[in-house]
Amino acid sequence: MEVWTANRVGFCPGVKRAFDLALRALSREKPVYFLGELVHNSQAVKMLEEEGGIIVTDPEDIPPFSLVVTRSHGLEKRIKEFLESRQVKIIDTTCPRVKKVQILAQELEKKGYNLVILGSPKHPEVRALLSFISQKALVLEKKEEWGKLRNFSPQEKLAVVEQTTFPREIKEEFTQEIKEEFTHLNLEVFDTLCAETEMRQRDLVESIKLHKVNKVVVVGGKNSSNTKALFLTARRLGIESIWVERVEELEEGYGDKEDRILVVSGTSTPHFSVEDVVKKLKAREASFYERKSADGSHHRENKCGEIHSI
Ligand code: SF4
Repeated sequence: MEVWTANRVGFCPGVKRAFDLALRALSREKPVYFLGELVHNSQAVKMLEEEGGIIVTDPEDIPPFSLVVTRSHGLEKRIKEFLESRQVKIIDTTCPRVKKVQILAQELEKKGYNLVILGSPKHPEVRALLSFISQKALVLEKKEEWGKLRNFSPQEKLAVVEQTTFPREIKEEFTQEIKEEFTHLNLEVFDTLCAETEMRQRDLVESIKLHKVNKVVVVGGKNSSNTKALFLTARRLGIESIWVERVEELEEGYGDKEDRILVVSGTSTPHFSVEDVVKKLKAREASFYERKSADGSHHRENKCGEIHSI
């Protein structure tokens, strides 16, 4: 059995920054309110609660003059204004890459562009983005909606930006479709995708090939969409895959002697969750190469079959 860990595991830079800011706030003041779960991971959320964090979904539940930490997806303007009106101190952990899209959208609007956003209108990042622009932007989530672009005339200037986690392959399809079907439009496509989730996908595919992996263990929250995407990609490649949120979900004795196992994680998975899973798999790996002699001494067989006393 051999175990590999993907190159990029644990929190992405944006989530790590948000989590560090939250822990710093908790070390100074208690309680600290969280508007929604800071990360899509129950272990990380539990850790914040144990440190004195209170998670609420309704801004009305945050008492005046208290301290609130908001999520890396960004904070809707109306909620920000509401909290400010109650003199709530806000630690805004909006990821700098998300912030960049908000700034770009505002600049484009000032330059007279009509905005088109590729993403989900229900996603908190898109909702926050929409709240920062005054016009009504067109949000396109599914391919079937692309035809709505026909409502624009060639005189109107259009700018396309994406939700940072929008799938690149769909964006590329969209760009191609524009070149073929919407040639009359005065449209400019900007690249606002975050490379983090893409790099994890690429890393997964390349590592499977490189290490001739036959099993993948995906570590991450069950409500994390990029974790789910990793799991589905591994399965699509025909690799036996399991998805665990915490080490306890990895069944005892998982892994056979001939297995070549890769461990990957979503962007909201804490590093310690990945380490726990890797440690358990490594212990299983070691068990295949340890033998006990009749005299009670232990020996370890290396992967080439050579025996050493330990
Ligand atoms: S996935 Fe990218 S944009 Fe989203 S929080 Fe992480 S670093 Fe920021």
